[in-house]
Amino acid sequence: MILVTGGAGFIGANFVLDWLAQSDETVINLDKLTYAGNMENLASIADDPRHIFVQGDIGDSALMTQLLQTHQPRAVINFAAESHVDRSILGPEDFIQTNVVGTFHLLESVRAYWTAMDESAKSAFRFLHVSTDEVYGSLGPDDAPFTETTPYAPNSPYSASKAASDHLVRAYHHTYGLPVLTTNCSNNYGPLQFPEKLIPLVMMNAVAGKALPIYGDGLNVRDWLYVGDHCSAIRTVLAHGKLGEVYNVGGWNEKANIDVVKTICTMLDDLHAGSPVTPHADLITYVKDRAGHDRRYAIDATKLQRELGWMPSETFETGIRKTVAWYLANQTWVANIASGEYRHWVEKQYGSK
Ligand code: NAD
Repeated sequence: MILVTGGAGFIGANFVLDWLAQSDETVINLDKLTYAGNMENLASIADDPRHIFVQGDIGDSALMTQLLQTHQPRAVINFAAESHVDRSILGPEDFIQTNVVGTFHLLESVRAYWTAMDESAKSAFRFLHVSTDEVYGSLGPDDAPFTETTPYAPNSPYSASKAASDHLVRAYHHTYGLPVLTTNCSNNYGPLQFPEKLIPLVMMNAVAGKALPIYGDGLNVRDWLYVGDHCSAIRTVLAHGKLGEVYNVGGWNEKANIDVVKTICTMLDDLHAGSPVTPHADLITYVKDRAGHDRRYAIDATKLQRELGWMPSETFETGIRKTVAWYLANQTWVANIASGEYRHWVEKQYGSK
């Protein structure tokens, strides 16, 4: 049995679905169900006895202790976080609360559980912390990609809170011997992503014939990884990672935001017959840049490839085609999200619906 936190969010839900498609091992899924947690993401496993969903907070020590003691998982994988940079700029406090204080309480609950185990269970146990490449800061156009030894230089409240959580995880290994693993991944895309993030936002607006907002000059560069490949990387690190080590995860797919958006528009011109606006690229609208917007992230995932044999299976072109097709085929999922808290967020962020 494994325990996953944040498994109703984008990457966590993809991970739980992938896990149950490939293994009979039960998953306990602990999620607070913030605006980003969506039980619809887990609808296909609602009746699966191998999936135990619990609504709760990683910072609730009594609940975490009870879950750990009752189910005795052999691993805890921590996806739970406040994850959106723009929200961290508008209101950093939730990020500190969940990503820093919450991770600390989770580590304490896990440490107590792990300390009480017998020696063989203790050595088999793993705590895997899922983190981001944003902790490394911003690169210039000619800088080498981030490696696992790049010094941390987080620039947003989000990345600073994730950096703090990474340091706590590291410290729990060095101080207490907790068997931890950390992954730092680049930007994910794929099915089930909340439409505040670039790719689903563009998909949703383009299908509705609304403006496609691009920050600044659109030339900020990100590395993009299909979410299924992130899930396979986490499974690989969980199974074979060296204790206390950090693994960078990336897709070798550096793209400027504007190029990502134009690629989606071209695909929609092809796949979205009956669109109110064609070509979809006519909807592109440049908006005021994000405060402190990091210019470029690029990640070197050579260590994961060389030491553990992981490689992504999707190219950007194959992954984005799957993603566009998924959003077009799942318009009810999109409509349900669009009618909820999301509307308030868009008004606050962009001043319109
Ligand atoms: P998400 O925002 O879609 O989902 C986060 C989930 O965590 C939600 O289901 C939410 O309800 C839950 N949650 C939030 N606070 C919680 C708390 N206190 N207790 C329990 N559950 C809580 O995020 P995501 O994009 O799926 O990201 C998952 C993890 O991967 C995060 O740690 C994020 O930092 C990391 N990450 C994300 C990306 C990306 O591109 N999305 C890239 C690299 C790393």
